[in-house]
Order: sequence, then C-alpha cells, then structure tokens
Amino acid sequence: MNAQKVISDLKRRFPNEPEYHQAVAEVLSTIEEAYNEHPEFDRYNLIERLCIPDRIFSFRVTWVDDKGQVQTNMGYRIQHNNAIGPYKGGIRFHSSVNLSILKFLAFEQTFKNSLTTLPMGGGKGGSDFSPRGKSDGEIMRFCQAFVAELWRHIGPQTDVPAGDIGVGGREVGYMYGMYKKMARENTGTFTGKGLEFGGSLIRPEATGYGNVYFLLEMLKTRNIDIKGKVVAVSGAGNVAQYTVEKLISLGAKVITMSDSDGYIYDPDGIDAEKLAYIFELKNIYRGRIREYAEKYGCKYVAGARPWNEKCDIAMPSATQNEIDGDDARALLANGCFAVSEGANMPSTPEAIEEFLKAKILYAPGKAANAGGVSVSGLEMTQNSIKLSWTKEEVDARLKQIMFDIHTQCVKYGKQPDGYVNYVKGANVAGFMKVAKAMMAQGIL
Ligand code: NDP
Repeated sequence: MNAQKVISDLKRRFPNEPEYHQAVAEVLSTIEEAYNEHPEFDRYNLIERLCIPDRIFSFRVTWVDDKGQVQTNMGYRIQHNNAIGPYKGGIRFHSSVNLSILKFLAFEQTFKNSLTTLPMGGGKGGSDFSPRGKSDGEIMRFCQAFVAELWRHIGPQTDVPAGDIGVGGREVGYMYGMYKKMARENTGTFTGKGLEFGGSLIRPEATGYGNVYFLLEMLKTRNIDIKGKVVAVSGAGNVAQYTVEKLISLGAKVITMSDSDGYIYDPDGIDAEKLAYIFELKNIYRGRIREYAEKYGCKYVAGARPWNEKCDIAMPSATQNEIDGDDARALLANGCFAVSEGANMPSTPEAIEEFLKAKILYAPGKAANAGGVSVSGLEMTQNSIKLSWTKEEVDARLKQIMFDIHTQCVKYGKQPDGYVNYVKGANVAGFMKVAKAMMAQGIL
C-alpha cells in the first residue's frame, strides 16, 4: 500500500469530505508498515475495501413543528464494515451533520469496535436536525419520522444504532419505540435504552468512566497518581458529565467544562454538588454552561475552548477538531502531561503531532472512548440472553475491556525507546483483526 496514493484517490473520488479524509489519513499513516508485511492484503485490495463504506443510506425526514410548519431534514446511516459483527455505532443529531462527518465516524468506529474484543462491526448515522431549543413533542415527532425511514435497514443481527451528540436516553427511547412499532419485534435493536425496556446499567456512564479507566492505565505506566491532578474537561454532555463524576470520585480536581457557546473555569474545582447542578442544568432544564458561572461566581469565557487554562491532564469530550495545533502547544507549555480523548477525533493532525513529539501520554478516542460501545455490546448480550447484569458486573467488565484495550495499544504501539505511541497501537491492533476477518471471508 502507498498510503499517500490511497488518500489522494479517495480525495479525488469523494471530494469535499475533509473529516473523512482526515480520519483515513491518520489511520493509514500508522498502519502502512504492518499492512505491507502482508502482501496478500494488497492482492485483495483490502485497503480500499476497508476505507469505503459497505453502503450508505440517505433519506429525507419530514416532521411538523409546534407551530404547525412542515420541516425537512436529511437522515443518514453509514454501514461501514461488518467483517467482525453486525454494524454498530451511534446516531448524531446536530446541525453540522453531513456525509463527511458521518463517514469519518463510521470509519473510526470500525477500528474502535474491533479493539473492544466484542463482535461488532462499524457504522454511524444521524441527521442535520438540531435538538437545541426544540420542545419534547418536536423531538419525539422528529425521532419517529427519522425511524420511519431508518427501521428497514437495521435489526438485531444487522445493524444496531445507539446515541451520540444530541442523542441521549430520551431520543433513543423515542426511536426504539417507533422501531418496535414498525418492525414488530422486541429484541433490542438500539442500545442506550431505558432500564425498564432492555437498557444496561452503566451504559450512560460507560464512555466517561471508560475514558478515566484508560487514563488510569496510562498513568500507571509512569507511576503517576490521579489524586490531586488538575484536569481540564471540555463538553458538558453525556461523556463529559460522567468523566467528571469519575474523576471527582478519584480525588482529581476538574477545573473546566464547556458547551458550544463557551467554557467555565472554576479554580476551586467542580465538586459533587456542583456536578449535580450540571446534570440538572444540562439533562433536565437543557440550559447553557454559562449559568454555572453565574450561580457559582466563577469565570466564563464566551466563544472559546478551555485549552489555555493550566492543567495536568486534558480530556476533550465535546466534538471533533476541538484541539488545534495552537491549543496543543498551549497545553504543553502549561505542563499538561496527558491527553485522553472522550470525543471522537477531537485533536487535529497538527495537535497530535505536537503531543507525540512531546512524548506525553496521549490516548486517541478510538481507544480511550471505546467504553461506551463496549457496554452497548454488553447491552446486546444481555438482550440476547434476556437477563440484566448488576451494576458491579457491568462495571467490572468495562474495566477489564479498557485494560485489555490498553494492553493491545502497548503491544502494537511501544517504540524502541519505550515510549508508547497509542495512536499507532490502537490503529494497528484495530486494523489487524478486521483485516484478518475480511481476508478469511473472501472478496466481498
Ligand atoms: P452530548 O450531545 O451529550 O454532548 C455534547 C457536548 O459537546 C455538549 O456540551 C455540546 O454543547 C458540546 N458540543 C457539541 N458540538 C460542539 C461544537 N461544535 N463545538 C463545541 N462544543 C460542542 O454528546 P456526547 O457527550 O454523547 O458526545 C460527545 C463526544 O463524545 C462526541 O465526539 C461523540 O462522538 C463522542 N462519543 C460519545 C459516546 C457516547 O456514548 N455518547 C461514545 C464515544 C464517543 P451544546 O449543548 O452547546 O451543543
């Protein structure tokens, strides 16, 4: 494989998809060596078959708002690769959603799911519908209209969606309800469901907790204790909330959180009581993070990201490309020694280069945030056997999975000088399993 040539071909064939090109380039640059050790991969043109999704569905979603106006949005589902199991990946509702973003997410998801050790292929879906400012009735009608189109393409053995940005328990509930009505089956073809109808304990917590478990494994390699460490977190949604919850319980000091309007800086640290306010603010009143600063009298910076604040550890948990080269240099200049990604592809290629050059502990999202899809996989298992595991049991499995992912990253990413390149480790480990499964199944 000539990675540069593959990427320029993809750019020519699929122009105007910068996030997709970025994700592919990041993976190919790190797996090229491992790939070229297997000449049979090239004979089967494995790389193009792995980069180009199996199929893409796109459809119009029509719904009626509270004023009686008829609205249209676009809906998509990318079924990227099912070599190791049914397509699996979240649904994103955000005004920025387009094919490039969903293709990058589905591509990343394929490697992430491979790393989890569970039998799941990669997929992703979503809509340019923005839930912000919408009433509960509007959200429900939109979810129903979205699934009225999507349902025929998914199923417990084919494709199992979950949540992502803008899609939490409420939206999954509405989508699953509609799916059940259309498909006339009740086998759990969504994960992140409510506990009363097949959801798993620890699923809401899983991505955030899992990221902290991964961070702990990285810190262990350098004998660093999390206690008392200052952590900058971005986002204030599902992933950020449970990241902060776990960090507080371990004695770390979280000084920032953010939303798409700006960030708060609390020098005293966000404690359990303040975090309870954020849960209420974001999950019930659906307010803005600025209100935290007003309530607790701390700094709020509008239109900015928190990476200029001094911290030991950064845990980006909002969205893609939220740490650029300048942010990375600011973090490093302030002494940050670990970055563990809750969001998908939050660091730009330039930022990643800075982290690797500085040899800090840097965990890419496809490894560090794999806890969410892992517990989704455990939810599928519980649905299949029609049993519910305890909180302790699911949490123990999550910890074990994050430990195993870390071990794989070290195995494939350790450099001769001892530095662990987690980007390379995660990409090579994720890739090899999918590649072997594809080879064994013939040219499809
Ligand atoms: P939520 O919708 O619950 O929260 C997203 C948070 O990020 C909100 O605070 C939101 O602010 C902020 N945000 C969204 N878009 C932007 C933007 N363009 N600029 C700045 N801030 C933004 O989503 P999740 O917490 O579920 O997802 C966060 C990240 O984690 C995403 O990258 C997602 O792909 C990834 N992830 C999620 C998993 C899960 O299980 N949920 C699993 C693995 C990865 P606002 O409210 O103002 O929009």
